[in-house]
Amino acid sequence: MAAKVFRQMFEEKYIRFPGGRTRAFTLSYDDGVEADRRLLEIIDKYGLRCTFNLNSTLFDCAGWHGRMDEEATYNAFKDGPHEVALHGARHIFLNKVPLPEAVREVVLNRDWLEHKFGRIVCGMAYAYNGFNDDVKRVLKDLGVHYARTTTPTHSFALPSDFLEWDPTCHHSDPRLAELAEQFVSTSPADEFKHREGRLFYVWGHSYEYDDNDNWHILEGLAQKVSGNADIWYATNGEIYDYVAAYRALVFSLDGERVFNPSYMPVWLEIRGKTYRVGPGESVLFDLE
Ligand SMILES: [Zn+2]
Repeated sequence: MAAKVFRQMFEEKYIRFPGGRTRAFTLSYDDGVEADRRLLEIIDKYGLRCTFNLNSTLFDCAGWHGRMDEEATYNAFKDGPHEVALHGARHIFLNKVPLPEAVREVVLNRDWLEHKFGRIVCGMAYAYNGFNDDVKRVLKDLGVHYARTTTPTHSFALPSDFLEWDPTCHHSDPRLAELAEQFVSTSPADEFKHREGRLFYVWGHSYEYDDNDNWHILEGLAQKVSGNADIWYATNGEIYDYVAAYRALVFSLDGERVFNPSYMPVWLEIRGKTYRVGPGESVLFDLE
């Protein structure tokens, strides 16, 4: 009887990131500005990954926090392992214009990014955190997978609604150092009940480091979180794709068999053991 009770407490399935890692780290920086180049140098040195949210009709606005022109924007992001994502064609509040105009903002922005960079662009960050339920609905219709807000969670939870993806915090958040320390020094594998995979998501504008002369914050954060074999360094889009594949797993009624219908391998933990489920593969969990 005791064994049965014990087992029942370990039915829960927990997401594990690629390679079975328990944690993921991502960055999101907005507006496509000159200071992004310095940010790229730092994060590339530490092997971090970032999503850059870009407008597409503001290339002649260099006075606005040092926005890059079209070719400089392309050259900054064309080769890297980083993601380019939507931020609206003109950086307007999507919730303060008629819905068709909001649609146009996203469509023009996506069309430019996809053709300029030769990629499929399905990610977004809301300019001015401007969104509402109507905007979220049309984003879904336009094939946008996720959209970042500016509301800090101060947590490492994955979003339940990717079209309202709240980050952990801004890089100037007074709790940044405390959260970074907590993120690297504790693991869900050390928890008894709350073993969910953890995501540390930091956002900002690179020009803020120039304005406040505090690039040491980024350097310190990068030093703290990088080089950890248990942390997956990924763009927002890579995290979305992976979590979507995890959430699409199909389980048998008793929860002991799992099928992965996606194109990528997915890792999960049950009863303290981590399993890799290959694309198109079905796995039966060990009972002990
Ligand atoms: Zn912005």
